[in-house]
Amino acid sequence: MSRRVLVLGGTAEARELASRLAAEGVEVTTSLAGRTHHPRLPDGDVRTGGFGGVDGLAAALDDVDVLVDATHPFAARMTEHAAGAAARTGTPWVVLRRPGWTAGPGDRWTRVPSLEDAAASIAPGARVLLATGRQGVGAFVDVDAWFLVRAIETPDVLPERAELLLARGPFALEDERALLDGHRITVVVAKDSGGATEAKLVAARERSIPVILVDRPALPAGVDVVASVDDIVDRIVPDGVSRG
Ligand code: NAP
Repeated sequence: MSRRVLVLGGTAEARELASRLAAEGVEVTTSLAGRTHHPRLPDGDVRTGGFGGVDGLAAALDDVDVLVDATHPFAARMTEHAAGAAARTGTPWVVLRRPGWTAGPGDRWTRVPSLEDAAASIAPGARVLLATGRQGVGAFVDVDAWFLVRAIETPDVLPERAELLLARGPFALEDERALLDGHRITVVVAKDSGGATEAKLVAARERSIPVILVDRPALPAGVDVVASVDDIVDRIVPDGVSRG
């Protein structure tokens, strides 16, 4: 019997998972928050927009056999809602979360718990590559520094001294090198999103440029976390996600 899977998406892994499940004959629907105007669409069905909190998501789980939270590691509210709705409805659920990054030799990283702490860590006069996403820019508006703000879409606010670069990754290493050099960047601020080795972190290491890395928010207690698309596919096809 085909299983109906709801994937909470917005990441490359969610897209890959939807393609893999659709190819296996699984009825898969991906849910997108609707933040970007021209999202890369996954295979299978797509629904867009918030559910309306835990109640709305719980109602949407009525005809769902398995819920997969494949949202970005910083989409903490959605993950909390997934935990609440899955517990309420008894829907089996699992979180697909790529591992975070680990510093290697030559990296000059400072880990901070929040965007606000990242903003407070920036030295006056710095030239910052701010790569924390459109929604995170507000935390930096009062910082006395120059910013190259890179985002997929225009942020609502920008620091007073800033240049906006609209671009969607992944970015090639040689482009990141050119970006850091061309703008004389002295510090990179990023979220610990994890995933394939990030070119900006490598380019920063090569130049001995410090990186302020915002730690991921904690996951709800007792969550079933899986690190790879392969593992989730194995568990959903043909059977086997444990009850959350
Ligand atoms: P969030 O703060 O955790 O969620 C805020 C609200 O947005 C949720 O309560 C929910 O509204 C809605 N929402 C979030 N993800 C959704 C989804 N996949 N489908 C339907 N509704 C969703 O999330 P966020 O940080 O704003 O991220 C929004 C989306 O962008 C996520 O899907 C995430 O995967 C993606 N994304 C986020 C980041 C990041 O750095 N935060 C980076 C890349 C991609 P209701 O309560 O009304 O259901």
